Amino acid sequence: MCGITGFIGYENAAPLLIRALKKLEYRGYDSAGIAVIHDKKIIVRKMKGRINLLEESLLENPLDGYTGIGHTRWATHGEPSDINSHPHTDSDGRIAIVHNGIVENYIKLKQWLQSRGIVFRSDTDTEVIAHIINYFYRKGHGSLLQSVIEALKLLNGSYALAVICADYPDRIIAARKDSPLIAATGGAGSFLASDITALLEFTRDVYFLNDGEIAVLYQDHIELRNDEGDLIQRETTHIDWSVESAEKNGFPHFMLKEIFEQPKSLENALRPRLKKDIIDFEEIKFDKKWLEARRIVIIACGTAYHAAVIGKYAFEYFARIPVEVDIASEYRYRNPIFNKNDIYIAISQSGETADTLAAVRLIKQNGGCVIAITNAPGSTLSREANEIIYTYAGPEIAVASTKAFTSQVMCIYLLALELGRARSYIPDTKKYTDELCEIPDRIRKILDKKEIIQRFASRQYNKTKMLFMGRQFDYPVSMESALKLKEISYTHSEAFAAGELKHGPIALIDSSTLVISFATQTALFEKMASNILEVCSRGAASLVITWEGGGFFDALNSEVFTLPKSEDCFSPMLAVIPAQLFSYYCAVQRGNDPDKPRNLAKSVTVE
Ligand code: GLU
Repeated sequence: MCGITGFIGYENAAPLLIRALKKLEYRGYDSAGIAVIHDKKIIVRKMKGRINLLEESLLENPLDGYTGIGHTRWATHGEPSDINSHPHTDSDGRIAIVHNGIVENYIKLKQWLQSRGIVFRSDTDTEVIAHIINYFYRKGHGSLLQSVIEALKLLNGSYALAVICADYPDRIIAARKDSPLIAATGGAGSFLASDITALLEFTRDVYFLNDGEIAVLYQDHIELRNDEGDLIQRETTHIDWSVESAEKNGFPHFMLKEIFEQPKSLENALRPRLKKDIIDFEEIKFDKKWLEARRIVIIACGTAYHAAVIGKYAFEYFARIPVEVDIASEYRYRNPIFNKNDIYIAISQSGETADTLAAVRLIKQNGGCVIAITNAPGSTLSREANEIIYTYAGPEIAVASTKAFTSQVMCIYLLALELGRARSYIPDTKKYTDELCEIPDRIRKILDKKEIIQRFASRQYNKTKMLFMGRQFDYPVSMESALKLKEISYTHSEAFAAGELKHGPIALIDSSTLVISFATQTALFEKMASNILEVCSRGAASLVITWEGGGFFDALNSEVFTLPKSEDCFSPMLAVIPAQLFSYYCAVQRGNDPDKPRNLAKSVTVE
């Protein structure tokens, strides 16, 4: 996976190429480069590292030229290095190309080219394409277009390709097979990119290339051709997206955007319910039924179920009331026991989760009163529940839930604290609400360290087993982390209470295992340290997520990621953030679309 772009027009290409590459960076980011035509010569600037390094180099030492191509790489063949970065040129330095994809028969083609005296500079599969185009070009196929067409016929595999030639500064030739490519003319000239988001700031009327098609870009128009070079007539497609929604506010994926929205979404969940240090749930009446309740039953599915398990710990901790947590699909079929003194809470982001709704109906038929925690006003759950608590997280578009989860957890904490106060187990909630008010800023601080997690994921993403463990409040966080990882990275992952390690999971540990341990329950640090040593001494790679300042876990053979210190009981909202980032970066490294994981849908409206 990588991003390619091209520009030909009435302005210097380099700054526009950099702008487009930045929008494509989510597609690959181990190296980047551009090539422009200046004075009938090709000039290439490329380097290992992120696009901002390339940008800095271009600011220091600009390249002039109105025709250019650009690339941000995710290496498949040849390590990330300056030499292996794209664009690649032919031996004469007259042709430059950028490529997204894999040339599957590149070894055969390379051997053939080497037998003709061609010397290769890079280890990439891509370089063969530049030399083959040159071969046909020299052979006198007459035109650049014809040479590209002949070259494409020799390639097996996938490509989105952009080609420039010093002899043809008035055009860019682009082609696609099994890798996306979009071309458009507007404003400053004609543009090419792997993804529409890179073009929206320039134009909204675009050509989506189909497999086997070729686009020839000129300053003021684009020709579409088939793989034999015959002209194709096609209307442009008008894209109606706002720049903001399509750009994901500059984030490569909705999931990453939503992870970064959590400081704000948690403020939204918290602020309306705090009136001068007092928790005030306008939507809930803390009446007799709450004060006399003997038990709370919380029903949910998936990620919301993990918020429910945190709820069990929180209600028992703050309000000393027994809590039963149930997976909705189990609850509805297992002939549960109802009690008129119970309080029932149903959690669903969408408010449309089929099993949760069925459980709610069952509870109501049996005389129970249901409080819904949902993000969706107007949803079926919000209409059927007796009382509703909205999470106010805003639309969550990525299939894997992040901000909706932490907002559910925040609402549950507020409920548990207020119930604890109402039932006189905590004298006043100020000490705790002061801490809750700090959570958004503490999440900001964690997000500022995202590169640490990104680097860790780039080293560990191909581990075949990933296990998560923790104790007390860290246990449901482990469960949520394992779910997030399997949802979007498709890695086999499991969570267990760390005390269970020797009751089974330890048999899984070997050098192909990564164990991520949450250690935020200070009274249990020593127990966690023993568990971490047990997995490390059996060859597992280890990451410990713990409070900063302690240094307790530094001596273990593990990487340590620290969280700004908070009350141990509020750790889930902080500890889950690095786990969300880890899942996201593993998915990206594996080439998955984190926003749309395979086989999943955002709202599970069927059983
Ligand atoms: N196969 C090419 C390379 O490794 C392109 C990879 C990509 O799509 O980023 O350079």
